[in-house]
Amino acid sequence: MRKSLFVLVILFFISSQSNAAPKTLDIYFIDVEGGASTLIVTPLGESMLIDSGFPEERDAQRILHVAKDVAGLSQIDHYITTHWHRDHVGGITLLAKKFPVKNFYDHGIPSVLSSDIDQQLIDAYRSVSQGKAIALNAGDQIKFLADRSLTHINFRIVAANALVVGEEPGSPQIKPCGTDFTPIEEDKTDNANSLGMVLTFGAFRFFDGGDLTWNVENKLVCPKDLIGTVDLFQVNHHGAANSNNPALVRSLKPRVVVIDNGPRKGGEAKTYATLKSVREIEAIYQLHKNLATTWMDNTPSAYIANDDEKCQGEFIKVAVNANGRSYRVEIPSKKIATTYQVR
Ligand SMILES: [Zn+2]
Repeated sequence: MRKSLFVLVILFFISSQSNAAPKTLDIYFIDVEGGASTLIVTPLGESMLIDSGFPEERDAQRILHVAKDVAGLSQIDHYITTHWHRDHVGGITLLAKKFPVKNFYDHGIPSVLSSDIDQQLIDAYRSVSQGKAIALNAGDQIKFLADRSLTHINFRIVAANALVVGEEPGSPQIKPCGTDFTPIEEDKTDNANSLGMVLTFGAFRFFDGGDLTWNVENKLVCPKDLIGTVDLFQVNHHGAANSNNPALVRSLKPRVVVIDNGPRKGGEAKTYATLKSVREIEAIYQLHKNLATTWMDNTPSAYIANDDEKCQGEFIKVAVNANGRSYRVEIPSKKIATTYQVR
């Protein structure tokens, strides 16, 4: 009896292996309550974490849970800090104590820290990265492991230190361009220095602009469109209104957008209106229901990972088909998944 069960288990294992679907490229939007933390896992199991939430045990635990328990990783291969604010670089020190993190990337540590950057967090980052972090510039790429039988992956930085691809160091943040561009006051915070990046997997394209703000966003699309259209857009700066310049969003023409907002941070009404006004956007996902605005400024509950302020930190998963031609967006806690075609 026991023996036959054993044989059966083996047979099931073999058949499930041989029928295993080709692996997807997965993107997890981890809930760090209005901070940012996005995990990419390639079909070969190589991983990239972009930002690490706040300097709180809560965020390190949530990232660890998704990386280890959900994605089945044993380490983070590439860790990127888009900029030095505490809701982006905060969690990495606590996370790295629990989980191996191999390579560190950022936009460079300024020689003199502006008042919006916390010296303690910088010191902790220097220590955890052992001074080996790589500073990225616009135009740089990070190479992923490749296999000729698999869909091609490309990862490129398009903005860094308030410069976009092709700009000389020292170029101004504000460059008038476009018929309806009204610049906002020069952004002197580190948001403007955020890394902006494009991931492509076959025909699938994803843009993550960290907390880039209005003026730099405009330079990304005018006079030259440096990004092109994308399928998936992580709405900039948690959906803040001094970011998400309509010129950028209209140029990206995403089909799906994800807002990494908190219950009372980001997901602002003006940004929501911009997203609603772009015809190509089919679905707006939010990590949180924004409790500071009305239901009219929130996407329907089926597209929200966390409805209540007191939440379990549920994540949103995007699984891109192995051929890069379609992608499934899923809120696992709600058992809701929708498949979208790549344009
Ligand atoms: Zn932020």
